[in-house]
Amino acid sequence: MSARAVPAVQPALDGLRHWVFDMDGTLTVAVHDFPAIKRALDIAMDEDIIAHLVALPADEARAKRAWLFEHERALAEAAVAAEGAVDLLRALAGQGSRLGILTRNDHAVAKLTLDAIGVGDLFQDADIIGRDEVAPKPAPDGLHYFLERWGIAATQAVMVGDHMMDLAAGRAAGTHTVLVNTPGDPWPGMADWRFADCRALQAALER
Ligand SMILES: [Mg+2]
Repeated sequence: MSARAVPAVQPALDGLRHWVFDMDGTLTVAVHDFPAIKRALDIAMDEDIIAHLVALPADEARAKRAWLFEHERALAEAAVAAEGAVDLLRALAGQGSRLGILTRNDHAVAKLTLDAIGVGDLFQDADIIGRDEVAPKPAPDGLHYFLERWGIAATQAVMVGDHMMDLAAGRAAGTHTVLVNTPGDPWPGMADWRFADCRALQAALER
């Protein structure tokens, strides 16, 4: 079976042992004001921040990346865990699940954030993938990294996030997808499961 093959029977969520999480807004209370960041960095509102930085001449890119790093570092130090996130991660780790972080944030900022909410001990350094390690979401590259690192098929993994980009990355890689912390169903057909928050997700696993 290829890594992208669709299983005949959808496995139950509680049978999955390989969990990749978005960080900001999924494990933390969302605080990034992306319009304000774009204004500060002179980026058009309809432009992708990371794509903008990648396309800049080296000097300008360096200055803007330094500003963004400092801005996000400050946010990281003040990070607050999202409802149920810490308990969910500890429960998954306790049952032996592999845990990964796939974020469009910076790797070092991600580590600061995970420490700030009290779950830094649950993640190996190589299981935290930021915007400079792979092509950022919605590209599936980060998920491909985890599938190879963990030696599993895509259908054995689940991507959990709060944004369309998380779900799109999961769909592109062929993993399962879970949406949390986003009311309603803003991206129909993209999430295999939807929960109010990580507390509700954990409750579903323990039913
Ligand atoms: Mg997010």
